[in-house]
Amino acid sequence: MRIAATSPRPSEEVEAPFLWEQHCSLPLSSEARIGDLARYPAGAFVSVNIGYSPQSSADSMALLRRLRADAQADSRFRLVRTIEDIGSAESIAVAFDLEDAGPLGGDLDNVARFYELGVRSLQPTYNHANAAGGGCLDAVDTGLTAYGRALVDRLNEVGMFADGSHCSRRTGLELAERARVPMIYSHSNFATLWDHPRNITDEQARACAAAGGVIGINGVGIFLGCNAADERHERIVAMARHIEYGAELVGIEHIGIGSDYSFDAEDFNTELRRNPAAFSEAYTRWGPLCWVSPEDLVGDGDVPGLPEVLVARGFRPADLAAVFGENFRRVARRVWRARPTVRGGCGS
Ligand SMILES: [Zn+2]
Repeated sequence: MRIAATSPRPSEEVEAPFLWEQHCSLPLSSEARIGDLARYPAGAFVSVNIGYSPQSSADSMALLRRLRADAQADSRFRLVRTIEDIGSAESIAVAFDLEDAGPLGGDLDNVARFYELGVRSLQPTYNHANAAGGGCLDAVDTGLTAYGRALVDRLNEVGMFADGSHCSRRTGLELAERARVPMIYSHSNFATLWDHPRNITDEQARACAAAGGVIGINGVGIFLGCNAADERHERIVAMARHIEYGAELVGIEHIGIGSDYSFDAEDFNTELRRNPAAFSEAYTRWGPLCWVSPEDLVGDGDVPGLPEVLVARGFRPADLAAVFGENFRRVARRVWRARPTVRGGCGS
């Protein structure tokens, strides 16, 4: 479909659609507070990161168990078991994701163990090559390994999203080729609009869409091309431009939201500065990272939010509903079907 870029701004109030947030981050430590997620609107679905390359299986499993217990004890949240748990009540539906295969500890049976505890999405690699494949910051793009292909097969079998964000370009393409059910990019913007190694090529986007998947657009300043602290409105507009570009490139039914909002901004920015081997100047040259906030994502703040900006650019209510929630919901309905049988706990 084509979206008119010059439609007049509507006079009526823009109603925020159901939100499916495919990726955000709490601190990966005892500092994580599930209550922070209450900044998302009632009824939303939120996927929370519980680990990437530095975390062991035990680290991620311990954090996951604690966050689950905290969510169960707080009536504002409910844990996602099936797709039916999402969008049907006032509470916020919570699932989890892993940003690297490292926390599996090399044991593919851990995919099912994490699934049992609510993990519904996993990236084979985070920025740099590992046993599964290549990362987006690597100088040489090595693609999926034999272990990576076996991992994709297991993710498909168990019913967890295979997620190409942070992977190398070749790894992302091979993931789309290998997957028997739709793969996703949980939080990736377009390199054609902003040339950054974390952003995906048009070829990757087309391959994801051809496999039936969805690309979640993020609100990270350095991946949007406007990261200054005073560029709050510009970031929302840039996010809208990536959504619009994706809709024109691969069809609006393949675009979603994965804002990558970091509730641990200070810790993460400190980690970036202290660890140049893991985060090159591609991450640090623009200063501390800034994000589009949960409030600005739904238009709950004191500036025009993303829905209002999109409506001003010609998006209709049905377009907003598709991008903000229904596209990821449709793909999850296909991918999350399987019910694994788990023997023993993680590491047992
Ligand atoms: Zn990420």
